[in-house]
Amino acid sequence: NSYLSTIPEGPPDAILGIAESFKSCTDPNKVNVCVGAYRDSSGKPWILPSVRKAEERMLKDDTVNKEYAPIAGDGRYVELALRFAYGNEMDLGSVAGVQSLSGTGACRIGGHFFARFAPKPKGLDRLPIYIPNPTWGNHIQIFKECGLDVQRYRYYDSKTNALDYDGLIADLKEAPDGSVILLHSCAHNPTGCDPTLQQWKDISDLIKEKSHHVFFDSAYQGFASGDAEADAAALRLFVKEGHNIVLAQSFAKNFGLYGERTGTLSVVCNTPEERSAVMSQLKLIIRPMYSSPPIHGSSIVKTVLEDEELTKEYYANCEEMADRIGSMRRRLVEVLKEVGSTHDWSHVTSQIGMFAFTGMSSDMCDELTSKYSIFLTRDGRISLAGLNEGNIEYVAKAIHDVTD
Ligand code: PLP
Repeated sequence: NSYLSTIPEGPPDAILGIAESFKSCTDPNKVNVCVGAYRDSSGKPWILPSVRKAEERMLKDDTVNKEYAPIAGDGRYVELALRFAYGNEMDLGSVAGVQSLSGTGACRIGGHFFARFAPKPKGLDRLPIYIPNPTWGNHIQIFKECGLDVQRYRYYDSKTNALDYDGLIADLKEAPDGSVILLHSCAHNPTGCDPTLQQWKDISDLIKEKSHHVFFDSAYQGFASGDAEADAAALRLFVKEGHNIVLAQSFAKNFGLYGERTGTLSVVCNTPEERSAVMSQLKLIIRPMYSSPPIHGSSIVKTVLEDEELTKEYYANCEEMADRIGSMRRRLVEVLKEVGSTHDWSHVTSQIGMFAFTGMSSDMCDELTSKYSIFLTRDGRISLAGLNEGNIEYVAKAIHDVTD
């Protein structure tokens, strides 16, 4: 009898498990509003035209090959990606940056980096990382795997369907000095609720006072407002305020490069010498994990951001996605009213980004799935990208039925 027979079945992933159930569902009316992936107005995955053009150029370029990337990835790609995040004014000479396996891989490298090098608060044997409650579900597991002590700070008030700003401030105050604070840089997943610029400034002041470390997770730059520059405002404010931020950057959503696993992890250091030491350590973290990153997605981002025309087209493509999602957000609330819902859905239109955090209970979500074959996460989050004119009335009617 082999040890393999003693291995218990693990639970399916909360989000990707639902995606599997959607795939195997045979109801012709089925709707997938679970996974945060963009769909066009006919419900199909969309390759951005600027991305397609970049790939065509790459195919014709006979200097392109399939050699290994360096451990830290393609340096030119990293530089352009960091420029995209930090902006034109930023001096990148003291920023250590590496290519990563999208946002997940970036969180993992950053988590290991903190666990290895940031001092533990007095009396604690593990470094605490405070992540918002709620947050992207994978954060919890990623940072546990890094050996960090995962703690939560209040983020959302489900009674008011808005940011729990006082709770957030109280919890960051309460956290032991020198904790890591994970912040979503824009379009918070799953709530679609971000602090105002003034609140960001006050959060920055408090974090400084408490000597906390800032870990920004940027998975939706460009998806919040449609303008990638505007969406980087909080991140850039923290850099201006002098924080040595760590940034996990994903190009999954804003470039539509989900499966290409394209991202960066960067650490804002104070001097080129610090940068050099940090770079060497990031490489030591990466080498035994996966040696070096994949090159196709990073070559696409590099090709787009290196070219003025393609960059312009890219910004328009990104805006188009954000606009369609925004219009689905408004339509959903409109159609809910049309089909007779008298609930206040105004939080859905004040939220931003890819998701509507509806406030539906897990029982209501289960009913949406069992009765209507509408697949969503049990926290009531709906990916607006999964809605289109063909299914929005069906979804609104179903929501009205389960919430009435
Ligand atoms: N961080 C947040 C907040 C996310 O919502 C996601 C994806 O849903 C990610 C990170 C990472 O995604 P990926 O690894 O596909 O870049």
